[in-house]
Amino acid sequence: MREYKLKINSSKTYLVDSDPTKVVESFLDTLPEKNKPWIQTTKKDGREVTTYHGVCPCCNNPTVLVGYETRNSKSPQPYMKHYNKSIPSLAQYDEASYKGCILASGNYSSFGNVSKTRKNTDPLSLTILDTVKNQLDRIFYVLEQDTGISFSTTQKIEMFKEYLISSGYNYSSSYLNNLPWTFANILKSHSIYKQFVIDDYKHPVVEALAHCKNIKLEPTNIKNKKQISSATNSFLEIFIEFRNLKIEKSTGDQSIDFRIFLKNSHLNEIKELYKQTIQINLTRFTNLINSKRSDYRQEKWEEMKVKIDEIQ
Ligand SMILES: [Zn+2]
Repeated sequence: MREYKLKINSSKTYLVDSDPTKVVESFLDTLPEKNKPWIQTTKKDGREVTTYHGVCPCCNNPTVLVGYETRNSKSPQPYMKHYNKSIPSLAQYDEASYKGCILASGNYSSFGNVSKTRKNTDPLSLTILDTVKNQLDRIFYVLEQDTGISFSTTQKIEMFKEYLISSGYNYSSSYLNNLPWTFANILKSHSIYKQFVIDDYKHPVVEALAHCKNIKLEPTNIKNKKQISSATNSFLEIFIEFRNLKIEKSTGDQSIDFRIFLKNSHLNEIKELYKQTIQINLTRFTNLINSKRSDYRQEKWEEMKVKIDEIQ
């Protein structure tokens, strides 16, 4: 995995530097102090060996930095690997949670498989459910930044309900760092008719919508937004979906496919308007939830939170 935490009870995450010559220096820069428990020295065959440690953001097991010392042209980028011993004051080794961890390379083949789930009572599932309930606006904020598409509060609440019904928080591939995208991946296709798009004709999504003769982008009262509407008098069956959540074997990078399509129910036809593979930024969401909302966003969020709390 590329991401690591420095404490168990924290969501703050860092990424391993992909440059083998800089990786140790970059790692040391993320430490609050250049000392134990993150730096460990042990004696091996009479010589002193230094190892660098973090915590897996998914299963909270200790990890160790590897892939920067002995290298050849086929070596993977440096990465964090699960470490099968407890590190005092950092993390306890827990074999069961390691075996279930989707970031353990042995589990990569089932990454993105929506039928692979954790238990309702799993601590990570509980954390995810709590985060979705308390950060729903930020989940949509990240998706909006990635796609240019935004939804009304009513639509967002509908999607949240759908996520709860599907128990998306139990989905094995979901952890805090990829939450906005694993949230989206569990949802069915959603109509974007009368929803919103960023008012920027250079944006590839806007360009694709603007080129479709059936679609009209109408001005709105909302700053920098256009409304997705029909160019004719008829209702437009236009949908988005997020599918194929994937993890790259050699780098641990994650991606998801986003597409927009038109449907013709009478002819049972689908026409794809836009498709993009989104590279997931694995520290963006955790950085966001560790920051304060602006007053304006806090106000908007409070309105939304009332609606979320009514559901439970
Ligand atoms: Zn793990």
